[in-house]
Amino acid sequence: MRFPVAERTAALIRALPKTETHLHIEGSLPFELLHRIRPDLYPEPPESWAQDFRFPDFRTFEKGLLAMAGHWFTSPDRYHEAASVLFTRLRDEHNVRYIETSFASGMMEFGGMDGRATAEAIRTAAPEGVEVRVLMGIHHVGYHEGTKDWIDASLHWPHLDGIDLHGPETAPVGPWAADLWARARAQGLITKAHAGEFDGPAFVGRVVDELGVRRVQHGVRAIEDPELLHRLAELDVTFDVCPVSNVKLGVVSSYDAHPIGRLMDAGIRCTVSTDDPLVFGSTLQDEYELLASRLGFDDERLARIARAGFEVASVDPAWREDRLAEIDDLLDARAEAA
Ligand SMILES: [Zn+2]
Repeated sequence: MRFPVAERTAALIRALPKTETHLHIEGSLPFELLHRIRPDLYPEPPESWAQDFRFPDFRTFEKGLLAMAGHWFTSPDRYHEAASVLFTRLRDEHNVRYIETSFASGMMEFGGMDGRATAEAIRTAAPEGVEVRVLMGIHHVGYHEGTKDWIDASLHWPHLDGIDLHGPETAPVGPWAADLWARARAQGLITKAHAGEFDGPAFVGRVVDELGVRRVQHGVRAIEDPELLHRLAELDVTFDVCPVSNVKLGVVSSYDAHPIGRLMDAGIRCTVSTDDPLVFGSTLQDEYELLASRLGFDDERLARIARAGFEVASVDPAWREDRLAEIDDLLDARAEAA
């Protein structure tokens, strides 16, 4: 993907310590692993990697993703291998130091896999120098008679750090969700929800009020309701935003029209992540370059995005302060050099 920026800006983005806080592990399978096992079906990356590609709807996106992911993710060992390649690359090529990644409870349910072992497989793939937190994503209709026992038990799995609400937003969410999210928080787990992507601002308000989350995945359509934004800012809500994903899925009409800058101006803390890079083809460097190239983000604003990821990270406070100090030092050094 090409979002042209000055070399000085590209260098700053490379140097910034960064986070990925909205990253679906199944949608982040390194393409070469898929190619390795199915070169017949996937001789080269999907056409959706093209910058101007647009999906006709969410269903088409989901179908393509599940087809690709289904070949690879057949056991906890496969999760471990994919996570290991992914996390190491994020550290070495993108200076990512903190990752929150989710795996889908539906993959456990329909693939007959053990969620507890999968969470462990992902978390133990963390390379040195990277903090990894593992969340389980549960669809709006994912909690039912056949799954509720092990989903309830998941709140006590030693390697599960949180839960996230996944899937098409317009399907109704039962009262089980508010109860499960409250129990998860009582256990000290991270709680998040996808909202404000395909459904409007009202659903963002609902996940904040009813599920009690302060971490919204996407959230971008909240821009349509200034009063809601004001309330969310007061509640210190964070949006984990994925600009390329939003454009390719038609949530936002063009790269230039992305509302992330306006969300920040309204007082919402925003992070930036790649969502499902196997499908969208963007790297974290691309996402930051988009902000600089298309939305006019300057050094300070780019650094603010990087800082936001560490501010909300579930980490030891001293470790957080060290990362924030690294970002400050980097900006100071550039100001002196300029
Ligand atoms: Zn997502």
